[in-house]
Amino acid sequence: MKIDLHCHSTASDGVLSPLALIQRAIEQEVSVLSLTDHDTVSGYQSLKGQAVLDQICLIPGVELSAVWSGVTIHLVGLGFSLDNPLLNGYMEQQRLARQQRAETIASRLAKRGFSDILEGALAMAQEHSGLPAADVQIGRPHFARYLVSEGYVPDMATAFQRYLGAGKVGDVKSQWPTLVQVVEWITSLNGVAVLAHPLKYKMTNTKLRALIKAFKDAGGEGIEVALAGQPRDATGFLADLATQFELSASVASDFHGPFNRWIELGNAPPLPKQCKPLWENWAWDKMRVC
Ligand code: AMP
Ligand code: MN
Ligand code: MN
Ligand code: MN
Repeated sequence: MKIDLHCHSTASDGVLSPLALIQRAIEQEVSVLSLTDHDTVSGYQSLKGQAVLDQICLIPGVELSAVWSGVTIHLVGLGFSLDNPLLNGYMEQQRLARQQRAETIASRLAKRGFSDILEGALAMAQEHSGLPAADVQIGRPHFARYLVSEGYVPDMATAFQRYLGAGKVGDVKSQWPTLVQVVEWITSLNGVAVLAHPLKYKMTNTKLRALIKAFKDAGGEGIEVALAGQPRDATGFLADLATQFELSASVASDFHGPFNRWIELGNAPPLPKQCKPLWENWAWDKMRVC
């Protein structure tokens, strides 16, 4: 059974609309999927009541940006109710943080001679989304896509290397809530908090272990262990960390679009046997979006 608890649509920085994403997941024979857009659940609006949801078990999800010890980290929240009134306030706070950061990124890039950068990035964020502008979360990939579309850089990777990646002019620190706050948000919604892609933060082992401990102490339940496209030894390393810290293990493609055949919906490696699957005690039918 293919399970994928982390992917993106045009509601954040993915390139497929929520509906196209679900259709692709069904084609890829994914049985259980969570759409986890960055800092928004607006992608779920267009999905509710769609006939395709009879063919897949869709679980509510979101990937929230947070800060811990000066580092931006990502926490996936899963299995909460999309109707919970607290959710809107949390998403609005994240939207404001993204909007303010986007304005700063744009003014910094303008000083480098790029024009209409905010308008361009917003247009990229809106492209294919079918959502009102306020419901799409703007991020650095939209700036990168604009720079590519204007021919300023040859591709996304170069846009990040030169202008948007760590330490570059567009790497603007955002006012994200802390790890503890975000885990509290997720638990206040009766959701499950998962530490996303622990190896992407490029931390030393000591710092990574401190992060995982802080996450566990805050009430986190799982870490992503099986990620699409990652080397086998990385999966083993993450499985050991999950076991040591008594955390459940999640599976994730972190799919943003059909760019390469390794990072595909439902294409995460199998969880090592030692792991406790995050969904072990889940009542799927009570959680699913209908
Ligand atoms: P943001 O949340 O707006 O700071 O943007 C972070 C997103 O940028 C990540 O979720 C990735 O999808 C994307 N990203 C980060 N680094 C790169 C890179 N080097 N090349 C392409 N996309 C990247
Ligand atoms: Mn992303
Ligand atoms: Mn992430
Ligand atoms: Mn992601």
